[in-house]
Amino acid sequence: MGIKGFQGTSLLDFPGRLASLVFWGGCNLTCPFCHNPQLVLDPEQYPDYDLETLLSDLGNRRPFIDGVVISGGEPTLDPQLGDVLGRFKALGLVVKLDTNGLAPKVIAELADKNLIDYLAIDLKTVPERYPELHGGPVNVDCLLDTVGLSATLNIEVEYRTTCVPGWVDEATIDWWGAKLAGTATWAIQQFHAEHALDPQSRRVEVYSPGRIRQLANLAGRYVTDVIVRGV
Ligand code: SF4
Repeated sequence: MGIKGFQGTSLLDFPGRLASLVFWGGCNLTCPFCHNPQLVLDPEQYPDYDLETLLSDLGNRRPFIDGVVISGGEPTLDPQLGDVLGRFKALGLVVKLDTNGLAPKVIAELADKNLIDYLAIDLKTVPERYPELHGGPVNVDCLLDTVGLSATLNIEVEYRTTCVPGWVDEATIDWWGAKLAGTATWAIQQFHAEHALDPQSRRVEVYSPGRIRQLANLAGRYVTDVIVRGV
């Protein structure tokens, strides 16, 4: 738990903004295809990043960056998250939160306090398969609550689906598409297998760029804005 890493600047992770990335350790899922397994399986191998040092680093970069991306791991597990985001906002930074969407109350509170400007919610597979993403219980109704909540928030929202073979196919896009139908932005992403949590997932033959585009076209039947990433 807590802040475990910091990356200077990137144009890739916060659409339209130059942002720094901050990584939180720990997660309430253990997705076999997770691309940050060390942060999930053994976050304590990394010392906590000192917040004052981080704020100083961000302050030094402030002339060059617009915002900060909060990623992980799953940042919403940290009870201090709101306080930390308040410190980032005090620097004048816009905040993007990357989340698996399983903490609707936390997200609602952060949004209510104007601590997030952009919310990116992962849709990993169909809801009925979420219990396969963790050894412990998974309350997928929380994700559905977050999806419902996000439609009411006055912030930018992006849904993201990484197209992992065996977990995401046309039926997955159809399921979530029907749920999202309307004005949503949906990023359809290629899976990069090399750093996956589960060794079997590292050997998966990823979808071709053509298949990814087909899935994106299918997503485009449901939502107004589709982003294709990683192909
Ligand atoms: S992919 Fe995301 S939700 Fe899944 S284990 Fe990794 S950090 Fe957690």
